[in-house]
Amino acid sequence: MEQTNRPTVIRTVDALREALAPTRRAGQRIGLVPTMGALHQGHRSLMDRARAECDLVVVSIFVNPRQFDRASDLQAYPRTEEADLQLVADAGADLVFAPATEEVYPAGFGAEVRLRGPLVETLEGAHRGSGHFHGVTTVVSKLFNMCRPDVAYFGRKDAQQALVIAQLVRDLDFGIRIETCPTIRDPDGLALSSRNSRLSPSERQRALTIKQSLDVAAELVAGGTTDPETIIAAATQVLSGVSLEYFALVDPQTLEPVSSIDRPVLAAIAAEVGEVRLIDNLTLLP
Ligand code: AMP
Repeated sequence: MEQTNRPTVIRTVDALREALAPTRRAGQRIGLVPTMGALHQGHRSLMDRARAECDLVVVSIFVNPRQFDRASDLQAYPRTEEADLQLVADAGADLVFAPATEEVYPAGFGAEVRLRGPLVETLEGAHRGSGHFHGVTTVVSKLFNMCRPDVAYFGRKDAQQALVIAQLVRDLDFGIRIETCPTIRDPDGLALSSRNSRLSPSERQRALTIKQSLDVAAELVAGGTTDPETIIAAATQVLSGVSLEYFALVDPQTLEPVSSIDRPVLAAIAAEVGEVRLIDNLTLLP
Protein backbone atom coordinates (compact mmCIF):
# COMPACT_ATOMS: atom_id res chain seq x y z
CA MET A 1 0.00 0.00 0.00
CA GLU A 2 1.31 3.48 -0.85
CA GLN A 3 2.01 5.74 2.12
CA THR A 4 0.65 9.27 2.20
CA ASN A 5 2.61 10.70 5.14
CA ARG A 6 5.03 13.47 4.35
CA PRO A 7 8.61 12.38 4.83
CA THR A 8 10.76 14.30 7.32
CA VAL A 9 12.42 17.18 5.46
CA ILE A 10 15.85 18.23 6.67
CA ARG A 11 17.58 21.42 5.52
CA THR A 12 20.86 21.49 7.40
CA VAL A 13 23.88 19.22 7.72
CA ASP A 14 23.72 19.36 11.54
CA ALA A 15 20.09 18.22 11.54
CA LEU A 16 20.90 15.43 9.08
CA ARG A 17 23.72 14.12 11.27
CA GLU A 18 21.45 14.24 14.31
CA ALA A 19 18.65 12.42 12.51
CA LEU A 20 20.99 9.67 11.31
CA ALA A 21 22.89 9.17 14.58
CA PRO A 22 20.56 6.59 16.21
CA THR A 23 20.47 4.47 13.04
CA ARG A 24 24.24 4.59 12.77
CA ARG A 25 24.69 3.77 16.47
CA ALA A 26 22.37 0.78 16.05
CA GLY A 27 24.63 -0.48 13.27
CA GLN A 28 21.79 -0.30 10.76
CA ARG A 29 22.25 0.25 7.05
CA ILE A 30 21.77 3.75 5.61
CA GLY A 31 20.95 4.15 1.90
CA LEU A 32 21.31 7.43 0.00
CA VAL A 33 19.55 8.34 -3.24
CA PRO A 34 21.08 11.59 -4.54
CA THR A 35 18.81 13.57 -6.90
CA MET A 36 18.24 17.04 -8.28
CA GLY A 37 14.49 16.80 -7.67
CA ALA A 38 11.64 17.01 -10.22
CA LEU A 39 11.30 13.38 -9.26
CA HIS A 40 9.87 10.73 -11.58
CA GLN A 41 9.58 6.95 -11.74
CA GLY A 42 13.30 6.65 -12.58
CA HIS A 43 14.14 8.21 -9.23
CA ARG A 44 11.39 6.11 -7.65
CA SER A 45 13.07 2.92 -8.87
CA LEU A 46 16.25 3.92 -7.05
CA MET A 47 14.23 4.60 -3.88
CA ASP A 48 12.47 1.24 -4.17
CA ARG A 49 15.79 -0.53 -4.45
CA ALA A 50 17.16 1.40 -1.45
CA ARG A 51 14.00 0.67 0.55
CA ALA A 52 14.37 -3.04 -0.14
CA GLU A 53 18.04 -3.13 0.88
CA CYS A 54 18.46 -0.55 3.67
CA ASP A 55 17.09 0.18 7.13
CA LEU A 56 16.93 3.93 6.58
CA VAL A 57 16.58 5.66 3.21
CA VAL A 58 17.68 9.25 2.63
CA VAL A 59 16.69 11.02 -0.59
CA SER A 60 18.70 14.16 -1.25
CA ILE A 61 17.22 16.88 -3.42
CA PHE A 62 19.71 19.52 -4.46
CA VAL A 63 20.01 21.27 -7.81
CA ASN A 64 23.79 21.57 -7.87
CA PRO A 65 24.80 24.80 -9.60
CA ARG A 66 28.39 23.59 -9.99
CA GLN A 67 27.55 20.83 -12.45
CA PHE A 68 25.65 23.02 -14.90
CA ASP A 69 27.69 24.24 -17.83
CA ARG A 70 24.97 26.67 -18.97
CA ALA A 71 23.30 29.26 -16.77
CA SER A 72 20.12 28.96 -18.87
CA ASP A 73 19.89 25.21 -18.17
CA LEU A 74 20.30 25.78 -14.42
CA GLN A 75 17.68 28.51 -14.47
CA ALA A 76 15.20 26.42 -16.47
CA TYR A 77 15.78 23.25 -14.42
CA PRO A 78 12.35 22.17 -13.04
CA ARG A 79 11.79 22.56 -9.30
CA THR A 80 8.72 20.74 -7.92
CA GLU A 81 9.32 20.20 -4.21
CA GLU A 82 5.73 19.53 -3.08
CA ALA A 83 5.20 16.81 -5.70
CA ASP A 84 8.67 15.43 -4.92
CA LEU A 85 7.79 15.01 -1.24
CA GLN A 86 4.67 13.09 -2.21
CA LEU A 87 6.67 10.76 -4.46
CA VAL A 88 9.21 10.17 -1.69
CA ALA A 89 6.37 9.46 0.76
CA ASP A 90 4.80 6.98 -1.65
CA ALA A 91 8.16 5.23 -1.94
CA GLY A 92 8.33 4.92 1.84
CA ALA A 93 11.72 6.64 2.10
CA ASP A 94 12.47 8.03 5.55
CA LEU A 95 14.19 11.37 5.11
CA VAL A 96 14.48 14.07 2.50
CA PHE A 97 17.64 16.13 2.70
CA ALA A 98 16.95 19.33 0.75
CA PRO A 99 19.55 21.92 1.68
CA ALA A 100 19.67 25.49 0.37
CA THR A 101 22.58 26.35 -1.94
CA GLU A 102 24.29 28.32 0.89
CA GLU A 103 24.17 25.28 3.18
CA VAL A 104 26.16 23.26 0.64
CA TYR A 105 28.35 26.11 -0.60
CA PRO A 106 28.60 28.66 2.24
CA ALA A 107 30.43 31.94 1.76
CA GLY A 108 34.17 31.23 1.55
CA PHE A 109 33.70 27.70 0.26
CA GLY A 110 36.92 26.76 -1.53
CA ALA A 111 37.09 23.00 -2.09
CA GLU A 112 36.81 21.13 -5.36
CA VAL A 113 37.07 17.38 -5.90
CA ARG A 114 38.40 16.53 -9.36
CA LEU A 115 39.03 13.22 -11.05
CA ARG A 116 41.49 13.08 -13.91
CA GLY A 117 41.59 10.62 -16.75
CA PRO A 118 39.56 9.29 -19.66
CA LEU A 119 36.37 8.63 -17.67
CA VAL A 120 35.80 12.32 -17.00
CA GLU A 121 37.29 13.62 -20.24
CA THR A 122 35.23 11.73 -22.82
CA LEU A 123 31.55 11.97 -23.89
CA GLU A 124 29.79 14.30 -21.40
CA GLY A 125 33.14 15.61 -20.14
CA ALA A 126 34.21 16.49 -23.68
CA HIS A 127 30.90 18.07 -24.65
CA ARG A 128 29.85 19.83 -21.45
CA GLY A 129 33.39 20.73 -20.40
CA SER A 130 35.52 19.34 -17.58
CA GLY A 131 33.70 21.49 -15.02
CA HIS A 132 30.60 19.32 -15.25
CA PHE A 133 32.11 16.23 -13.65
CA HIS A 134 34.19 18.32 -11.23
CA GLY A 135 30.86 19.75 -10.07
CA VAL A 136 29.38 16.26 -9.78
CA THR A 137 32.33 14.77 -7.88
CA THR A 138 32.47 17.78 -5.56
CA VAL A 139 28.80 17.65 -4.61
CA VAL A 140 28.66 13.86 -4.36
CA SER A 141 31.75 13.88 -2.09
CA LYS A 142 30.01 16.43 0.10
CA LEU A 143 26.76 14.44 0.18
CA PHE A 144 28.71 11.29 1.06
CA ASN A 145 30.46 13.10 3.93
CA MET A 146 27.25 14.72 5.15
CA CYS A 147 25.22 11.51 5.12
CA ARG A 148 27.92 8.81 5.37
CA PRO A 149 25.65 6.18 3.80
CA ASP A 150 26.50 2.50 3.56
CA VAL A 151 25.07 2.31 0.04
CA ALA A 152 24.33 4.97 -2.59
CA TYR A 153 22.05 4.43 -5.59
CA PHE A 154 22.59 5.85 -9.07
CA GLY A 155 20.89 5.34 -12.44
CA ARG A 156 22.38 3.77 -15.54
CA LYS A 157 20.59 6.49 -17.49
CA ASP A 158 23.67 8.54 -16.53
CA ALA A 159 26.05 5.66 -17.21
CA GLN A 160 29.18 7.80 -17.35
CA GLN A 161 28.28 9.54 -14.10
CA ALA A 162 27.84 6.16 -12.38
CA LEU A 163 31.31 5.08 -13.54
CA VAL A 164 32.81 8.39 -12.40
CA ILE A 165 31.22 8.01 -8.95
CA ALA A 166 32.51 4.43 -8.67
CA GLN A 167 36.02 5.70 -9.42
CA LEU A 168 35.59 8.56 -6.93
CA VAL A 169 34.69 6.07 -4.21
CA ARG A 170 37.66 3.85 -5.07
CA ASP A 171 40.15 6.69 -5.36
CA LEU A 172 39.14 8.43 -2.13
CA ASP A 173 38.33 5.29 -0.07
CA PHE A 174 34.82 6.42 0.77
CA GLY A 175 33.89 2.88 1.77
CA ILE A 176 30.41 3.26 0.27
CA ARG A 177 28.82 0.60 -1.94
CA ILE A 178 27.60 2.03 -5.23
CA GLU A 179 24.58 0.42 -6.85
CA THR A 180 23.67 1.27 -10.43
CA CYS A 181 20.01 0.71 -11.37
CA PRO A 182 18.43 0.16 -14.82
CA THR A 183 17.03 3.00 -16.91
CA ILE A 184 13.27 3.49 -16.53
CA ARG A 185 11.46 4.53 -19.73
CA ASP A 186 8.02 5.69 -20.76
CA PRO A 187 6.11 3.01 -22.68
CA ASP A 188 7.12 4.69 -25.97
CA GLY A 189 10.79 4.25 -25.07
CA LEU A 190 11.73 7.77 -23.98
CA ALA A 191 14.06 7.57 -20.99
CA LEU A 192 12.51 9.38 -18.04
CA SER A 193 14.29 12.62 -17.27
CA SER A 194 13.41 15.68 -15.22
CA ARG A 195 14.12 17.70 -18.36
CA ASN A 196 11.36 15.91 -20.33
CA SER A 197 8.79 18.22 -18.71
CA ARG A 198 10.30 21.06 -20.77
CA LEU A 199 9.55 19.31 -24.10
CA SER A 200 6.59 20.49 -26.19
CA PRO A 201 4.41 17.68 -27.64
CA SER A 202 6.18 17.95 -31.01
CA GLU A 203 9.63 18.01 -29.36
CA ARG A 204 8.68 14.95 -27.38
CA GLN A 205 7.85 13.11 -30.62
CA ARG A 206 11.25 14.07 -32.02
CA ALA A 207 12.95 13.01 -28.79
CA LEU A 208 11.64 9.47 -29.37
CA THR A 209 14.07 9.13 -32.27
CA ILE A 210 16.91 9.17 -29.70
CA LYS A 211 15.83 5.81 -28.29
CA GLN A 212 15.01 4.59 -31.80
CA SER A 213 18.61 5.27 -32.87
CA LEU A 214 19.85 3.16 -29.96
CA ASP A 215 17.45 0.38 -30.95
CA VAL A 216 18.75 0.41 -34.54
CA ALA A 217 22.30 0.03 -33.23
CA ALA A 218 21.18 -2.82 -30.92
CA GLU A 219 19.53 -4.68 -33.79
CA LEU A 220 22.57 -4.37 -36.04
CA VAL A 221 24.91 -5.58 -33.32
CA ALA A 222 22.58 -8.46 -32.45
CA GLY A 223 22.49 -9.33 -36.16
CA GLY A 224 26.25 -9.62 -36.37
CA THR A 225 27.41 -6.22 -37.63
CA THR A 226 30.77 -5.51 -36.04
CA ASP A 227 31.93 -2.29 -37.69
CA PRO A 228 31.26 0.75 -35.44
CA GLU A 229 31.18 3.23 -38.36
CA THR A 230 28.46 1.24 -40.14
CA ILE A 231 26.39 1.03 -36.98
CA ILE A 232 26.76 4.71 -36.09
CA ALA A 233 25.82 5.76 -39.64
CA ALA A 234 22.66 3.64 -39.63
CA ALA A 235 21.67 4.60 -36.10
CA THR A 236 22.05 8.35 -36.58
CA GLN A 237 20.02 8.17 -39.83
CA VAL A 238 16.82 7.64 -37.86
CA LEU A 239 17.31 10.80 -35.79
CA SER A 240 14.82 13.42 -36.87
CA GLY A 241 14.40 17.00 -35.69
CA VAL A 242 17.09 16.74 -33.04
CA SER A 243 20.56 18.23 -33.02
CA LEU A 244 23.08 15.44 -32.41
CA GLU A 245 26.04 16.11 -30.11
CA TYR A 246 27.49 12.64 -30.15
CA PHE A 247 26.62 9.03 -30.82
CA ALA A 248 29.44 6.81 -29.55
CA LEU A 249 30.12 3.10 -29.23
CA VAL A 250 32.43 2.62 -26.27
CA ASP A 251 33.73 0.07 -23.81
CA PRO A 252 31.12 -0.13 -20.99
CA GLN A 253 33.80 0.19 -18.28
CA THR A 254 36.50 2.47 -19.70
CA LEU A 255 34.31 4.42 -22.16
CA GLU A 256 37.08 4.15 -24.74
CA PRO A 257 35.90 3.88 -28.36
CA VAL A 258 35.81 0.33 -29.70
CA SER A 259 37.21 -0.60 -33.11
CA SER A 260 35.20 -3.78 -33.60
CA ILE A 261 32.20 -5.12 -31.74
CA ASP A 262 32.90 -8.61 -30.46
CA ARG A 263 31.68 -8.13 -26.87
CA PRO A 264 29.08 -5.97 -25.08
CA VAL A 265 29.43 -2.30 -25.97
CA LEU A 266 27.79 0.84 -24.63
CA ALA A 267 25.97 3.01 -27.16
CA ALA A 268 25.75 6.54 -25.74
CA ILE A 269 23.98 9.51 -27.27
CA ALA A 270 23.50 13.18 -26.46
CA ALA A 271 21.23 15.41 -28.50
CA GLU A 272 19.38 18.67 -28.20
CA VAL A 273 15.68 18.80 -28.87
CA GLY A 274 14.76 22.46 -29.08
CA GLU A 275 16.32 24.01 -25.98
CA VAL A 276 16.47 20.74 -24.07
CA ARG A 277 19.61 18.61 -23.98
CA LEU A 278 18.91 14.89 -23.51
CA ILE A 279 21.19 11.88 -23.04
CA ASP A 280 20.48 8.19 -23.29
CA ASN A 281 22.40 4.92 -23.61
CA LEU A 282 21.96 1.22 -24.16
CA THR A 283 24.23 -1.79 -23.76
CA LEU A 284 24.47 -3.63 -27.09
CA LEU A 285 25.03 -7.37 -27.07
CA PRO A 286 26.60 -9.14 -30.08
P1 AMP B 1 19.02 13.56 -11.46
O1 AMP B 1 17.94 14.05 -10.55
O2 AMP B 1 18.71 13.72 -12.90
O3 AMP B 1 20.38 14.09 -11.07
O4 AMP B 1 19.10 12.00 -11.25
C1 AMP B 1 19.27 11.44 -9.96
C2 AMP B 1 19.56 9.98 -10.11
O5 AMP B 1 18.45 9.34 -10.78
C3 AMP B 1 20.79 9.71 -10.98
O6 AMP B 1 21.54 8.66 -10.41
C4 AMP B 1 20.19 9.33 -12.30
O7 AMP B 1 21.02 8.48 -13.07
C5 AMP B 1 18.92 8.60 -11.86
N1 AMP B 1 17.96 8.60 -12.96
C6 AMP B 1 17.54 9.67 -13.69
N2 AMP B 1 16.68 9.28 -14.66
C7 AMP B 1 16.57 7.93 -14.55
C8 AMP B 1 15.84 6.93 -15.27
N3 AMP B 1 15.06 7.25 -16.31
N4 AMP B 1 15.98 5.65 -14.87
C9 AMP B 1 16.77 5.31 -13.83
N5 AMP B 1 17.48 6.21 -13.11
C10 AMP B 1 17.39 7.50 -13.46
